This record gives sequence, structure tokens and C-alpha cells, in this order.
Amino acid sequence: MNENFDLIEKNISAIQEAMSAYPNAHLMAAIKTRSDEEVRKAYECGVRYFGENRVQELLAHYECVRSLPEARLHMIGTLQTNKVKYIIDKVDMIESLSSISLAKEIDKRAEKCGIKMPVLIEVNIGREAQKDGIFPEDLPAFLKELAAFPSVLPKGLMTIAPVCEKSEDYAPYFTEMVRLRDEVFAPLFPNEEKPLLSMGMSGNYREALRHGTDFVRIGTGIFGARHYPTDTEVKK
Ligand SMILES: *Cc1c(COP(=O)(O)O)cnc(C)c1O
Repeated sequence: MNENFDLIEKNISAIQEAMSAYPNAHLMAAIKTRSDEEVRKAYECGVRYFGENRVQELLAHYECVRSLPEARLHMIGTLQTNKVKYIIDKVDMIESLSSISLAKEIDKRAEKCGIKMPVLIEVNIGREAQKDGIFPEDLPAFLKELAAFPSVLPKGLMTIAPVCEKSEDYAPYFTEMVRLRDEVFAPLFPNEEKPLLSMGMSGNYREALRHGTDFVRIGTGIFGARHYPTDTEVKK
């Protein structure tokens, strides 16, 4: 445990050093499969944004994250429409908006709670069949449709880039995200602050920073390899 804490500390300080040239960028810890102790350790090392993938895990981490002053909790994973109600009053942002039916449900639940929910629109920048997200060419129409949902506040774009062999191979994807932000998103929301980009993970965050991302979402690069419990372990 202590050994792992040392590793977390070392990893975060290396990432922070890489980020020091980008003072406006935020480090988010992707905390799926991690313990509350690991979350607290990351916070101690200066992390203030925490991203969770699954509703059940998010609820399990909720008390912990909320007990940490100024810590922010974002939903970053696939969100089923019927689960929005469990997290709507618990997250600071939903980064994984990728369908109109989900926008409709977020709008309905947020209105019920008397809040407006900041969202990022997930873009499937590599047009990969297994991934969620709006295709780049569908983004203008999608963004226009969001006008029908007053309790949904579009703040920018998120993506999970396809896995590439070399770090420079990510450049075309991140360049395209910047273009979508500046040429598609920004003109549709002229009264908003500069739209946000959330892109960059353990394997490509330096490249994403070079392209001016506002958030990098890092899991294994902070905490080490993920260990998903097997069925037999869950039953124990
Ligand atoms: C798991 C996850 C990350 C972090 O991935 P790593 O490769 O472990 O850094 C970032 N974003 C999303 C949406 C994730 O699910």
C-alpha cells in the first residue's frame, strides 16, 4: 500500500512537471477501479478533478470526493439514460454526452433538481465502431439540437483518441478536435467563455497538452495498471 502511494506521488509530480508549461490545463485522475485511499492520496498530491466511468462506482466514491474541499467530480464514461437520475445532483459535469436521448434525460432530471448541468459533447474522433461519441460531421446538427434542452449547458468537447503506436500519430486527431472547437462549437455558443477540450490520457497526454487541451484524464499513468476483479473474486 505505502509502496503504491509512493508511486502515485512520483507519477503525479512527473505529470505536474510536464503540465507546468500549460498553466491553464487541469489534471483529472480517472479513478475507475481505485480505492478511496488512492483517491485521497491523489488529492493530497494536488489533484482536484476526479473522473468516474460507471454510475455504481461513482456513487461508491461520492462521499470520499465530496469530503475533499474543492474536489470536482465528473462523469466521463458511457452513461445509460435510465441511470442519469442517480448522479444528476452528484456530479459537477458530464463529459460523455453522446446522444439526444441522453441530453433529453439530463435536461429533465436537472430541471427537476433546479440545476443546470454542464456537459461536454463526446466526439468519436477516430470514427471507431466500438466507441461512443458523435462523428465530426454530425456535430453541427447535434449541437443545434441541444438548444431544445435549457438545463443542459454545453461547455465544450471531449474525446478518447484511437490508440496509436507513436505519440506524433495522435496529432491529426487532436488538431481536428481543436478545429471542431474553434470552427463548429465556438460559433454556435458565442456568449460562452472559451469552450473546453478534454482529451489526452496516460498514453498521449503530452501530445494533447501541446494542442492546448484544458483537461487531461489520467488513470494508469497515476495509479499504475488497473486490476479488474474477476467474477470469483467478486463473489468472495
Ligand atoms: C479510463 C479512462 C481514462 C484514463 O485512461 P488511462 O489510459 O488509464 O489513463 C480517461 N478517460 C476515460 C473516459 C476513461 O474511461
